[in-house]
Amino acid sequence: MLSRTLLIWNARYYSSISGAKQYDVVISGGGMIGTTLACALAENPTLKDLSVLLIESGPEKKTNFSKALPYSNRVSSINSSSKDLLDRIGAWDQIQSTRTCIVDTMKVWGHSSDDLLEFHKCHNYQDKISYIVENDLIVDAVTKQLQSSNVDVMYGKKVAHYELPGQSLDKVSIKFESGDSVECKLLLGTDGANSQVRKAMNVQYVSWDYDQKGIVATVKVSVPSPNRTAWQRFIHTGTVALLPLSDEYSSLVWATTPDLAKSLLQMTPESFVDALNSEFNNPASQNEPIQAANKVAHDVLKFFNLSLTNEPIIPPRIISVEDKSRAAFPLGFGHSVKYVGPSVALLGDSAHRIHPLAGQGVNLGFGDISCFVQLAAESISNGYPIGHPECLTKYESSQQKQNVPTMLSIDLMNKVYRSSFTPVKILGNLGFQLVQAVRPIKRVMMSRVS
Ligand SMILES: Cc1cc2nc3c(=O)[nH]c(=O)nc-3n(C[C@H](O)[C@H](O)[C@H](O)COP(=O)(O)OP(=O)(O)OC[C@H]3O[C@@H](n4cnc5c(N)ncnc54)[C@H](O)[C@@H]3O)c2cc1C
Repeated sequence: MLSRTLLIWNARYYSSISGAKQYDVVISGGGMIGTTLACALAENPTLKDLSVLLIESGPEKKTNFSKALPYSNRVSSINSSSKDLLDRIGAWDQIQSTRTCIVDTMKVWGHSSDDLLEFHKCHNYQDKISYIVENDLIVDAVTKQLQSSNVDVMYGKKVAHYELPGQSLDKVSIKFESGDSVECKLLLGTDGANSQVRKAMNVQYVSWDYDQKGIVATVKVSVPSPNRTAWQRFIHTGTVALLPLSDEYSSLVWATTPDLAKSLLQMTPESFVDALNSEFNNPASQNEPIQAANKVAHDVLKFFNLSLTNEPIIPPRIISVEDKSRAAFPLGFGHSVKYVGPSVALLGDSAHRIHPLAGQGVNLGFGDISCFVQLAAESISNGYPIGHPECLTKYESSQQKQNVPTMLSIDLMNKVYRSSFTPVKILGNLGFQLVQAVRPIKRVMMSRVS
């Protein structure tokens, strides 16, 4: 006991003579999640007096977002809980007054109109399904809020080493490549899917590659005004989705094989647009067992008086692709078995990475922030110091309960639709028809995405 006390005392002594600046909290990673987390801590009445440092390894993005800028190719579908968080920290007003597009209908289908899933705000599931916002606009609006807070921010700062509390330290020490260092009571890792903080925690990380690339682009569309429908088609190579940006433009996320992705990036704009239109419109070939299973499913649903939409699917016609807007991102799954350790916690993609087919990645991260800030404020109000193990454990168990089922359902959806095994394909089609016909199932699905 005495030697432990001496070790802690030594560590404190070492800290005080090391000259390292001391913080209560250091947030490592200034993407959408890290920046919003810093702002949420600073805006919380119980936590606002904590000393907080946000470190971003990249340069500061001086976007000065305005309506005049061309649309960015990186956008997110933001659900109402994420919107409420951005509202609470004062960033939503700027986002809304710059540009955002409301999605009030979502049409998801597979090989044919037999497997159409249609979600509509008129069905009273929600007033709005989601908001489409450019990622850079979220960071820009939140950064503006941060500027009037007491959070210190370091851009272009590369971390060489995180020293987490072990036998000899009671604080986290962060050493930079530039030779200087800082120390803190709690380190929050928001440094994305390749998280260095997670690696320093030495925790088990379950991950796999989808052998798919996500092509993003901004496209000009011809649709009836207002353009408020999100479209998504499941095909055997992946998914292709259009998210509305304005009456003229939509944002594309096309998950496909690495080979096809490579050729899509190299195509002329005209060929790319043709390939995209045909991906949305071409009837996919179905073998006889699948057609027969679809017919049986229709008859069974009819017998129970459950109806499927008979509306034809008319996806928007893509007119052109914006210059230099095409880009590709690798897609994978990742789950950190532990979100927390002594004096450290992971939030956002550093803890969990999912396929973008359901547009939920950043929404899960915003959920982590709301949960963490609420529990940290409760813990401090109860007299505990920041980063108390009980608070960290509660955060981990609450968010793993929230995130893991969503992650696994999205992974399953992707696998079922890409499978070439007929029974699995039949199961996928039946799933679509069942969800479309049975309202309570549909309502549960909507409550998870909006
Ligand atoms: C094609 C595509 C489409 C998507 N669409 C949607 C959608 O519609 N809706 C949705 O909810 N999600 C979507 N996502 C997922 C979403 O983009 C991610 O979940 C989100 O960007 C994660 O944010 P983050 O801040 O946790 O991580 P990141 O965005 O990866 O940010 C991490 C930040 O940390 C910095 N960093 C890295 N290492 C360090 C270090 N050691 N020290 C300091 N800084 C560091 C990086 O520079 C970066 O700024 C999509 C993803 C893809 C690929």
